Amino acid sequence: MRIFDPHIHMTSRTTDDYQAMYASGVRALVEPSFWLGQPRTSAGSFTDYFDALIGWERFRASQYGIRHHAALALNPKEANDPRLREVVELLPRYLGKDGVVAVGEVGYDSMTPEEDEVFARQLELAREFELPVMVHTPHRDKVAGTRRTLDVVRESGIDPAMVVVDHLNEGTVDLVADSGAWMGFSIYPHTKMDEPRMVEILRRIGTRRVLVNSAADWGQSDPLKTSSTGREMLGGGFDAAAVHTVLWENPVAFFGQSGRLVLDPIPGFEEDDASDGSGAPDASGALFEGNSVLRGERVR
Ligand SMILES: [Zn+2]
Repeated sequence: MRIFDPHIHMTSRTTDDYQAMYASGVRALVEPSFWLGQPRTSAGSFTDYFDALIGWERFRASQYGIRHHAALALNPKEANDPRLREVVELLPRYLGKDGVVAVGEVGYDSMTPEEDEVFARQLELAREFELPVMVHTPHRDKVAGTRRTLDVVRESGIDPAMVVVDHLNEGTVDLVADSGAWMGFSIYPHTKMDEPRMVEILRRIGTRRVLVNSAADWGQSDPLKTSSTGREMLGGGFDAAAVHTVLWENPVAFFGQSGRLVLDPIPGFEEDDASDGSGAPDASGALFEGNSVLRGERVR
């Protein structure tokens, strides 16, 4: 299984996770910027965060054989803090950079007027920079939130093929299917979508325009939910080609619209599809701005 996790927050994860992800078949990912749990109080915190996503985290992933890409935006929750509004004006400085393949996560949290304004402005930026957009749908009031999201997308004039609406479930998938946007599903350990429900949805709607992600972050989540969904598909009667479409070709097609995906294997890591766990990499002592992921010298 060759896997592209189109939505995962690696900043919140460990090097053990990177090793396990590689062993499970993950070779590329997109890390969208998001809320960190602790509210930020100034725009400067965002510039440091964005720099880390396109700098240090990209380097860290490369040490484990995984191609890292970022999606940048002011997240819906923090769009409500007037102190952070200038983040939207800082974004153009970042959206042209290497490794930035989308605007995201944008969308609604509590559906306030502030969120409306920031969402619409960031859709405009996506059009301006010709980048795909990753749209988060609220966990409460999901159907109403998804409807409103699709209205705003339509009004923005952006091509729906450039938009993925994420965190969908059985109640919202059809709305998004009809809109022409891509359908994103986050597979979680205990809540929301799980692997058997995902396979049921795939059976009903097919594999077109579907992205499956782990959305793993600092909360209860699992960075291996992409491979477990692949296995569930195989056990549920899908063939390897269908799994490859969902877990690799679809995210490559969607984020490839940025023109900025880099997918060739990282030097030192083999180009193979083997994911039996035997290929789990060990980090080299390479440096990023003078620092490596190692702690002290390696014991030989
Ligand atoms: Zn997320």
